[in-house]
Amino acid sequence: MSGICLGALLLKGGIRDFTVYEKAPAAGGTWRDNTYPGIACDVPSRFYQYTFAPNPEWSRSMAPGAEINAYFTKVARDTGVHDRIRFGAEVSDINWLDGQWSVTTADGTSETYDFVVSATGILHHPRYPDLDGLDTFGGAMFHSARWDHSVPLDGQRIAIVGTGSTGAQIVSDLAGRAEELVVFQRTPHWVMQLRNPEFSRVTRWLHRRSAAYDTLTYHGSRLFIESFSPALLHPGRARRFATWLIRRQLNKIEDPVLRKQLTPDFEPMCRRLIISTGYYDAVQRDDVQIVASPIDRVEPDGVRTTDGVLHECDVLVLATGFDSHAYLRPTAVTGPSGHTLDKAWAGGPRAYRTVAVPGLPNFFMFMGPNSPVGNYSLVAIAEAQAGFMLAWIERWQRGDVDTMAPSAEATDAFYRDVDAAMPDTVWATGCTSWYVGQGGRVELYPWAPKQFRAMLAKIEDEDFETTARS
Ligand code: NAP
Repeated sequence: MSGICLGALLLKGGIRDFTVYEKAPAAGGTWRDNTYPGIACDVPSRFYQYTFAPNPEWSRSMAPGAEINAYFTKVARDTGVHDRIRFGAEVSDINWLDGQWSVTTADGTSETYDFVVSATGILHHPRYPDLDGLDTFGGAMFHSARWDHSVPLDGQRIAIVGTGSTGAQIVSDLAGRAEELVVFQRTPHWVMQLRNPEFSRVTRWLHRRSAAYDTLTYHGSRLFIESFSPALLHPGRARRFATWLIRRQLNKIEDPVLRKQLTPDFEPMCRRLIISTGYYDAVQRDDVQIVASPIDRVEPDGVRTTDGVLHECDVLVLATGFDSHAYLRPTAVTGPSGHTLDKAWAGGPRAYRTVAVPGLPNFFMFMGPNSPVGNYSLVAIAEAQAGFMLAWIERWQRGDVDTMAPSAEATDAFYRDVDAAMPDTVWATGCTSWYVGQGGRVELYPWAPKQFRAMLAKIEDEDFETTARS
């Protein structure tokens, strides 16, 4: 999504000399990789699109994954980015050599560039659980992001490990299709069950006919989210009200024993709130069982919990999340004087205003550390970050600058502000999640999306170390 975004904006700005490296044989990123049953976006689809490529065809308020994948790949084709993607090219090393970046792919070939931009996503590397006997399982087993569509599901006994956003969507979809669904819950999550209505033919027609109407609904959705999301971060009336609303959702669970089992012991929204169309309905079915006893080990016939019970199953789905702290690693980045990204991040990932790293000139990243994520649209975030990158690339094009990198002081100042603001956020109220990195640091943006856009809308010259073109 981010790579296509920047590619499209470069082309729009008349910059054609670039290559997009893609290790897979197709574009689409997370929406290409995640094809599990029930996949959808929980951000309103009107706001989950590029401002420069409105999509009148969204079928629902929250679009299904395949539709989103089709949208991004269509934008790649329509804008010409697709022709500049080198597929099956995994970048292994990025080295600063004689004033340029040398990008080396896994096949050992290298090419040089003036700028490098990492657009590798956050939730990219599947995290497999460290369970005894996992490889002894006799049935079909796969991670949610590596769904094996050759495996039949209807009428099967299916076990799912993990109850995050992904697990909740899978359970909602498979309930009633599987003969029996066993859900291994290590930690209960807060869930907001919402409807996901289809857009009417009239609405779609209106969007097709009028770009102004599309712009209006995009900003309407954006303003709706932005009107309440910053207030939810901090203590106050809005958060108390949202907390009350989310807690009330649990009343959908009629059985008090199950309700208790599903009640988290942390603040709503401390972890990413699960938006689901049917999780609470699904888990109350007779053919769906929540297992809260910890997993002891996996055996050829199923999963044994520490209470000694063997839960037999034919299919084992690992909805166990991602390594969200890898960013572009394992790609090795070595800047001038042997300065490596690994060394720079020895104490945890940090980036100047989420997009650049001191000591690495002409290097940017999308969704870098402390980018705003949570339940906001990452497409809007990517556009704000792309705008900042383009502003520097245009300066370079005009010959105003040869190299640029943020200073260590400016980056430290950004983190002083982040560290001061974070304790006041809901993410710091005491829970573990993929938001929390090394040393317990929350790697999200502690302010409002409006502030994020303003932060990247203007280059603060004093924050950068630059060299002039010779
Ligand atoms: P996740 O939120 O990290 O959840 C992983 C789940 O697996 C958790 O319930 C975790 O338990 C469990 N787990 C991990 N290791 C385990 C083990 N060894 N034994 C038992 N349980 C284990 O991952 P996710 O559900 O894939 O979601 C990740 C993120 O992707 C979301 O937060 C969201 O940002 C994004 N996403 C978005 C959408 C969307 O609609 N836009 C949909 C899906 C995903 P604990 O809770 O105890 O750690």
